[in-house]
Amino acid sequence: MRVTILGNNSALPAFGRHPTAQTVTMYGEVVLIDCGEGTQIQMQRYGIKWKNVNHIFISHMHGDHYFGLPGLINSMSLLGRTAPLNLYGPANLKPIIDAILQAANTELKYPLVFHALPAETELLADTPTFTVHSFPVVHGIDCYGFLIEMKTRGRRILPEKCMEHGIPSEYFEQLKQGKDYVGAAGETIKNELVTEDGPTPKKYAYCSDTLFTESFLHIIQGVDMLYHESTYLEADADKAAARYHSTAIQAAKIAVLANAKQLLLGHFSSKYKDLEIFAEEAMSVFSGTIVSVEGVAYDI
Ligand SMILES: [Zn+2]
Ligand SMILES: [Zn+2]
Repeated sequence: MRVTILGNNSALPAFGRHPTAQTVTMYGEVVLIDCGEGTQIQMQRYGIKWKNVNHIFISHMHGDHYFGLPGLINSMSLLGRTAPLNLYGPANLKPIIDAILQAANTELKYPLVFHALPAETELLADTPTFTVHSFPVVHGIDCYGFLIEMKTRGRRILPEKCMEHGIPSEYFEQLKQGKDYVGAAGETIKNELVTEDGPTPKKYAYCSDTLFTESFLHIIQGVDMLYHESTYLEADADKAAARYHSTAIQAAKIAVLANAKQLLLGHFSSKYKDLEIFAEEAMSVFSGTIVSVEGVAYDI
């Protein structure tokens, strides 16, 4: 599981930084979270293939989190997409997308399946690869965070060992589930001889624009990586509170309280050119802090 940052700035693009967007990749499948202006261009720049994106999550209706969406969904159609695309967002996102398509007399060549975000914490997506829950955060308008949990795929097959013991590939699914192999003549091959432990399922929490709040701590407890916005430095804590945003230190406090293993900071105000102080301030509270850099993929 890894997260790639496509945009780590807040409302205005500045110093080469873009509005919010990021992808989470699991077993080759890509989930897009937020889609600020320029997202499809950033995807091209960093080799994220739209064909691998089947789920897009939009946290709230501030433009820096979705103004790139009409362009991306239109390009997918022009490029011949036929597979359904699941779009999760606030209920008032749908009429906006519909109006944009209608005004251009555009009919997408694939089904765009819209899922309105529920007011409370709920299971949004459940695929063979992952689950996603949304949860409300505290911002000037309705705004949501997302908890992404990768599923285990069972034990990992050791193909050479299987070949050595003459185990046919039809049996691999049962080996993944931990069963021993019983051959035609009744001979048994112990599972641990031909498999090893699979990867531990990981958890990633994305806390979009939010005031410092402990209201969702119970949902993100123990995540492997926490993305938390840090629009401001501590000297601007008053401004952060007035605008329903957080400081780097507040994000670090949430990481501590949530027992997160790593903290990824983003959504930086365009007033800051140098982001090093974000790291200094946050690391004074939580040493596992990373100041996100666009184009970098972080292992979770
Ligand atoms: Zn924002
Ligand atoms: Zn916002």
